[in-house]
Amino acid sequence: MALLEVRDLVVSYGKIRAVKGISFDVEEGQIVCLIGTNGAGKTTTLRTLSGLIRPAKGSISFDGTALTSVPAHKIVSLGMAHSPEGRRIFPRMTVEENLRLGAYSRRDKETDDDLRKVFDLFPVLAERRSQPAGTFSGGEQQMLAMGRAMMSRPRLLLLDEPSMGLSPLMMKKIMSTVADLRAGGTTILLVEQNAQAALKLADVGYVLEVGKIVLSGTGPELLTSDEVRKAYLGED
Ligand code: ATP
Repeated sequence: MALLEVRDLVVSYGKIRAVKGISFDVEEGQIVCLIGTNGAGKTTTLRTLSGLIRPAKGSISFDGTALTSVPAHKIVSLGMAHSPEGRRIFPRMTVEENLRLGAYSRRDKETDDDLRKVFDLFPVLAERRSQPAGTFSGGEQQMLAMGRAMMSRPRLLLLDEPSMGLSPLMMKKIMSTVADLRAGGTTILLVEQNAQAALKLADVGYVLEVGKIVLSGTGPELLTSDEVRKAYLGED
């Protein structure tokens, strides 16, 4: 049994069908990526997995538990955390306050250890822990959003477009942290428009087009596939 099993998932916004019956697995310990252009349904898929939107049809099983009617806060307690598109940090709160919020669903309040781990991962957050998060650059906000998600000690981390709007250098740093998180035992479902960066890291990738999975394979298979190279890597 895979850690996450998605079957025939359909998600609609009123009459608009954003996700049209997709199925995929995420095995424990893997980095799995969903790639695709704007509007393919990637964000909708992640928001459905974390309970923010209810699917019209289909099933989601996380570690054997059916999720489609579980509320979002319970899904966090079950071990799935979401670092959303656009980061959604709280700009007037300090870095530390933002991070501690990520642990809100935990019963134990022993969050100092986790805070230390996040600070080890992203030393810049430690240096600026008392600063309002709204003063941060895009890259720093991305680190904060990922750090906040890690505060719930997730088994599965959903990452929505972590590289969006970042300089190449910062993007490299974020992607290498994704690899570090996996090495530390976190399973990762990564949504990216930057197909190249995502596929280099991914064990398995799925290509979404207008709500459907049109191609899947290992990271190296997709990186060298003619279809992916033409459509997503800008090659002839
Ligand atoms: P992006 O990279 O632009 O976020 P995406 O692959 O994540 O793209 P989604 O944001 O999931 O795509 O959007 C899928 C489809 O659903 C699009 O056609 C989009 O216009 C539509 N959509 C997304 N959010 C809403 C909403 N709140 N109400 C109505 N339609 C929506």
